[in-house]
Amino acid sequence: MTIAENLQAIVARIDAARKAAVNPAPATHLVAVSKTVPEVGVREAIAAGQLLFGENRVQEAQAKFPALKAEFPGIELHLIGPLQTNKVREAVALFDCIQTLDRIRLADAIAAERARGGKVPRLFVQVNTGEEPQKAGVLPREAGELIHYARDILKLPVEGLMCIPPVEDDAAPHFALLKKLADEHGLPFLSMGMSGDFELAVKFGATHVRVGSAIFGARPSA
Ligand SMILES: *Cc1c(COP(=O)(O)O)cnc(C)c1O
Repeated sequence: MTIAENLQAIVARIDAARKAAVNPAPATHLVAVSKTVPEVGVREAIAAGQLLFGENRVQEAQAKFPALKAEFPGIELHLIGPLQTNKVREAVALFDCIQTLDRIRLADAIAAERARGGKVPRLFVQVNTGEEPQKAGVLPREAGELIHYARDILKLPVEGLMCIPPVEDDAAPHFALLKKLADEHGLPFLSMGMSGDFELAVKFGATHVRVGSAIFGARPSA
């Protein structure tokens, strides 16, 4: 299967899942996760009409996307991996959305870049729904405080939530919890679901599904 064929198949499965869902989001966007994918693969996806991409490392995205964005101004790039405060300047310059806001200090650093005249991308708060000690994301019980601080005090454009459920868990309760938190805080966007479970995420109201290997093939193991 080519990248174009894979994309077409995923889009069809998202549409079918939306039709089958009782309460789907108004729209579900496919974020093509292009981490580790060489530029030629990204170009193949663009040629097939895909313009929304996700990358998990600032440095890798900086190597691939500035030229592509100049060539294809319709590209929208989302950061889906952890962001260190010392990379904030580069990240806000390159990404259209940062899905991994997960702590007060990072919100402060993004606001500091804005004060210097930097761009402010759209922001999603990453929630560690499985409360895994090694995983990034704010704990569910602390999400409200971070959302309030970033959106209402700093006036940053916090628009959604993102989660990565524990690999060994049934994802359904994690997606349900993220949807509940988003509703409680009046956040319209929900980034959840990957290659193995994006249809389930659609059922729970995902507005963004992040699909990598089902489009681009298996990644080399790290
Ligand atoms: C790699 C990655 C994905 C895509 O995973 P696949 O299983 O290849 O679809 C989604 N979200 C995040 C945060 C990732 O790092």
